[in-house]
Amino acid sequence: MSIKHPVAIAACTDYENVRAAIEQVLAPQFAVNGSVYGKRIMLKPNLLAWRKKQDPACVHPRFLVETAKAFLDAGASKVAILENPAIQSVPSILHTMGVDEELRKLNVPFASLKEFAPMNPPDNVRFRNLELASEYLEFDHVVDIAKAKTHGMMTLTLCVKNLFGLVNGSARLGWHLSVGRDFHQFADMLLDIYLTVKPSFNLLDGIIGMEGNGPGSGTPIQCNFVAGSTDSLALDAAVAPLLGVPDLLLLQCAAERQIPMDHEIVTEVPEIPFLKLPDPPSLALEWGLRLPPSCRNFMRNHLLARPLLDPEKCVGCGLCARMCPPKAITMVDKKPQFSTEQCIRCFCCQEHCPKGAITPKQSKAMALVRTMEMFIRKLFRKK
Ligand code: SF4
Ligand code: SF4
Repeated sequence: MSIKHPVAIAACTDYENVRAAIEQVLAPQFAVNGSVYGKRIMLKPNLLAWRKKQDPACVHPRFLVETAKAFLDAGASKVAILENPAIQSVPSILHTMGVDEELRKLNVPFASLKEFAPMNPPDNVRFRNLELASEYLEFDHVVDIAKAKTHGMMTLTLCVKNLFGLVNGSARLGWHLSVGRDFHQFADMLLDIYLTVKPSFNLLDGIIGMEGNGPGSGTPIQCNFVAGSTDSLALDAAVAPLLGVPDLLLLQCAAERQIPMDHEIVTEVPEIPFLKLPDPPSLALEWGLRLPPSCRNFMRNHLLARPLLDPEKCVGCGLCARMCPPKAITMVDKKPQFSTEQCIRCFCCQEHCPKGAITPKQSKAMALVRTMEMFIRKLFRKK
C-alpha cells in the first residue's frame, strides 16, 4: 500500500512574513521525517537568474534565507545552499539578491554544484545513465525549494522540474537535444531524477509566481501561498490543479508508470488564482508520437508551437543562439533566425532570453487541429 504524503498549503501575501508560512508547511514534514537535530541539510532552490527586484524566475531571497534559518533553528548541524544555475554562479546570484553577507553571518555556505557522476538509480527509472550532482549524497536531507511558474515545454515548473538543476549544465543541453523533441520522454527523465534523489523536504514559493511566458520571462502574479510536502511529486500533484493544470503531462506520465503520488492536503486551501499558461506544445507532439517518423517530423515542423521573436525587444545579445542545444539559431544582423527543421522545441532560447523577446507561437495548423480535436472529443462525449 502506498503512503499518503501530507501536503500543507499556507496563505502568505508577502515575503516579510514568510517565516510563519514556511514553519506551517514544514511542521507536517518534520512529523513524518523526524527531527533534523544534528543533521546535514542541503537546500536546492530554483535560482534561474535574479535580474530585478522580486524577479519571479527565482525563489525569493527572503524565502531562501528564512528556510535556512528554520532548519538551523530546528537544530541542523549544517545547512548549505547548492544549485546549478545555467549562466551565473550561485555566489553571484545571492550577491545580486543582497543576501550573501546575511548567509555568511548565519554560517550557511553556498556554491554552484560541480561534482557530476553517474548515480545508482532505483529499478523503476528509464534513463539509467543520468549523471547528477553527487554533492547531494553528502547530506542527510535534500530540501527541494521550487518556484510556482509556467514553463513553455512542461506547462508548469514546480518541485519535480526543479530537480533538473542537479544535471550538469552541458549535459542539460544534451538531454534537451536527445529527449527534448519528445515531451513525454522529457517528463519521464524528470521523473527519473526525482525517483533517484527523492528529496525528503519540499517547499514551493507561490507568493509571487510567474504566468504566461515562463519560466524565465513570464509575468509576475500574486498567488499568495506557500506549499510543502515530504514528496516532490505529491506536492506537484496537489498544487497543479489549484494553478489550473489538472492534466499536467508530468503527472500523466507518473500515472502511466504507476509512480505513487498519493497525498492528502492537511491544511485549509487558500484562494489561489489559475495561471495564464503558455501555448502548450505537448498536445500536438503526442499526436505525432503515434505516427511514423516522417509524419512526426512533418507534424513537429508544422503543428508544434515554435519560438517567435519580438524584434523590438531583442537587443541582439546572442544568448539564445549560444544556449540552443541543436544550434538551430543563426544570428543575422544581430537578430536570431530559427531553423524550423533543426529546432527541437525545447524553448531554452525563451528560458534564457534576458529581454523576454521570444515566446512560443502556436501555428495556424495547430489551432485548426485543436479545434477539430475538441469537436471530435465533444462528439464522443455525447455518446
Ligand atoms: S537572447 Fe533575446 S535579446 Fe538576446 S539575441 Fe536572443 S532574442 Fe535577442
Ligand atoms: S530555437 Fe529555441 S526552441 Fe528551438 S531548439 Fe533552439 S533553444 Fe530550443
